[in-house]
Amino acid sequence: MRMQTAAVAMAALGLIAWVEPKTATPLVAKDAAAEEAKRQMVYVHKTRAKEAQRVQDIAFRIMVANQDLCADRAPRLGMDWDVADSFDAKVRPAAVEAYKIGDGVTVTQVIAGSPAAAAGLQPGDVVVSVNGEAAPTGKRADRKLSKRVDEIKGASTAPLTFVVRRAGQEQTLAVTPVMACAYGVAVADQPELNAYADGKNIHITRPMLRFAASDEELALVIAHEIAHNGQHHIQAKQKNAAVLGVPGLLIDIAAAAGGVNTNGAFAKAGMQYGASRSSAAFEAEADYVGMYYLARAGYPTDGVEDFWRKMAVEEPNAIFIKSTHPATPDRFLAIASADDEIGAKRAKGEPLTPNQKVNEARAAEAGGAK
Ligand SMILES: [Zn+2]
Repeated sequence: MRMQTAAVAMAALGLIAWVEPKTATPLVAKDAAAEEAKRQMVYVHKTRAKEAQRVQDIAFRIMVANQDLCADRAPRLGMDWDVADSFDAKVRPAAVEAYKIGDGVTVTQVIAGSPAAAAGLQPGDVVVSVNGEAAPTGKRADRKLSKRVDEIKGASTAPLTFVVRRAGQEQTLAVTPVMACAYGVAVADQPELNAYADGKNIHITRPMLRFAASDEELALVIAHEIAHNGQHHIQAKQKNAAVLGVPGLLIDIAAAAGGVNTNGAFAKAGMQYGASRSSAAFEAEADYVGMYYLARAGYPTDGVEDFWRKMAVEEPNAIFIKSTHPATPDRFLAIASADDEIGAKRAKGEPLTPNQKVNEARAAEAGGAK
């Protein structure tokens, strides 16, 4: 306040004056800017659809190959649908153009290698009926259809008959669901280089999509996060927090569940939950089980430890500090050793299943009974 008063007084004395740029910058017409705004919004949605497609394609392949290892599984189709009214009025025209959303519930994503892809579904297909039941209409009909399809599927992998409208023609397509880990996958609109799991879903931030430049690297990150959910780490951490008698921790754990991020943002969150004393061990397990997920999905497992050298560049502190996550050198070496273990099992023709801890008490009992 005082500064402003002083400035006004100085301006009055002619000691300071308002300053403008000196060059003649181009004038922008209002309607041209509005048109460009729509083009940019279409570009945003198209780019985000591509990003989501990349993440979903990799995650689905991993979740199908490892459904028997995951704690939660369900029959899945490998497709997504949407309706125009799920978008805010401001961005709706751009979203409708980018996702080719028609009059009704429209297929917006078909995951590569999925049952939906095998059945021939395509983005832009408008769902007319499923197993003879007309597709829901009205507000958020996409959600109603999701609910109804889940009810029809139940736990069965029996084929579903989709009638869709494509370029004015109706097509009848049979989709046979496949069992897969039952976790949602989302690109998180957050500025941090991170990925995390919350027990039900996994989230990959946009900076992580850029950082994990190859699909093999991104698969490593995704497999790690699915392993957190597949091994019920969130549930375990919540139980551990309850054992420690710190109920407030439950929320922190749910919010900050096991990011791939090493010691930056998550170290702060880690401080808040004492239960994180077991966190590094869960991280090590997600790395280890994640390597088996990769191998079983047919992704390369050799050389993927280099990811942790790249991560060290982002966060040099993580080379030395262990907190909620193991230090990057530990992760590098443990992953390389898991790859050796997988290689040895392959050479011997043994099944690719992670080694379990030997239960010492049971081993002693078995020893005594002989
Ligand atoms: Zn993690």
